[in-house]
Amino acid sequence: MPKKTTVQDYIRTIVDFPHEGILFRDVTTLFSDPRGFRMAIDQMLHPYAGECIDKVVGLEARGFILGGAIAHQLSVGFVPIRKKGKLPGTTISQEYKLEYGEAIVEIHDDAIQPGEKILVVDDLLATGGTASAGIKLIERLGGDIISCAFIVDLPDLGGRKILESMGVDVHILCE
Ligand code: IMP
Repeated sequence: MPKKTTVQDYIRTIVDFPHEGILFRDVTTLFSDPRGFRMAIDQMLHPYAGECIDKVVGLEARGFILGGAIAHQLSVGFVPIRKKGKLPGTTISQEYKLEYGEAIVEIHDDAIQPGEKILVVDDLLATGGTASAGIKLIERLGGDIISCAFIVDLPDLGGRKILESMGVDVHILCE
């Protein structure tokens, strides 16, 4: 097997998941390898050296794995944004469009204080629907989004342009 030297080398593609015609970029093979996982966390953190970050927000579900590790590394708190109905406390909700239909994400209404500096984390950026809904939730609570960090960008789907058009800084490890 060829030696893995980049984060991309640890990511596998599953054909026809979850539907026929979809190429699913599977980061579980990156997470399960100690060198790969550390490389991904270190590289995701690199642009923020010296930056003041108060909290990391992770998008369900793989954003929890990355966001937890990044928050631990920064010694700051972690906040989850979850699909509707999963958070136990009082929440605010944001709807967004999927290819077919709509989805809703939620955040606890006391999870972020006005003016807190937030880093948003997820594994992959596709259309940007999930991340932009998350950004809206954070902004509604008064959070100041420092940046959004992802491992994979699918540039043909335009998510990066959407986030940048919202005035958000974006860092992504690979396409
Ligand atoms: P978007 O909302 O279209 O940008 O899709 C991004 C969300 O869907 C993220 O939370 C990803 O975890 C998930 N997602 C979409 N496609 C993939 C994929 O190929 N691999 C892993 N996650 C994906």
